[in-house]
Amino acid sequence: MRQLYIAGNWKMNLVPSQAAKYASELAAAAKDAKVKVMIAPTYVCLPAVVEAVKGSNIIVAAQNVNDHEKGAYTGEISCDMLKDIGVKTVILGHSERRQYYGETNEFINKKVLFALQNGMDIDLCVGETLEEREGGRLEQVLADQINIGLDGVTEEQMAHVTIAYEPVWAIGTGKTATPADANSAHEYIRGLIAKKFGKAVAEKQIIQYGGSVKPSNVKELMACEHIDGALVGGASLTLEQFLPIINC
Ligand code: PEP
Repeated sequence: MRQLYIAGNWKMNLVPSQAAKYASELAAAAKDAKVKVMIAPTYVCLPAVVEAVKGSNIIVAAQNVNDHEKGAYTGEISCDMLKDIGVKTVILGHSERRQYYGETNEFINKKVLFALQNGMDIDLCVGETLEEREGGRLEQVLADQINIGLDGVTEEQMAHVTIAYEPVWAIGTGKTATPADANSAHEYIRGLIAKKFGKAVAEKQIIQYGGSVKPSNVKELMACEHIDGALVGGASLTLEQFLPIINC
């Protein structure tokens, strides 16, 4: 039985004081949550949010990390820096980083390997654009994102990997994949994991769905066999919306 994992990607929203206030309210409100809960504030909010959720079960994640230990990488943040403030989870390969910052599967793979070797848990985002889906390239795109993104990862390290299937056309658009379409993409991803790492790893693999998840559609999505949680953007920004998703 895979435990549901609900994550909130706050993207470039909330200033540190707002983030800390919201995080402490969330920690109190979600203290009896049956699911695993993660929130990913911006870098500058991380210390305040870590402090605000101290003593709770809420996992605090970064939205990105650099693929080098340290050095002349202006504007970047390292795994050691994150771990030093108590953050050991990171979202990698989000479609906005692929789209706006040119992150390729090969580059994301470097970050995946570096983060795992440095003891981090990762949430690897994959998903197709509308053009790729309509062009019949869904399976090829997912296969490349999984096979290249996880190249060199060991079976043991897969225990530290969550996958988020996020069809790009459903992110922030209000459009959601139908539960059946989402489930079949998840099943396909699980098959790719089975081929690469074996059936036992695939059975345990947590695969979140992301793309306009909200209180009104979360139940139906989470009821699908291969959907093990959600990566939530817009609806993770307020307690009114995120709490019902957590309590789904
Ligand atoms: C996301 O960016 O990960 C996401 C799923 O956003 P939204 O829920 O706003 O579509």
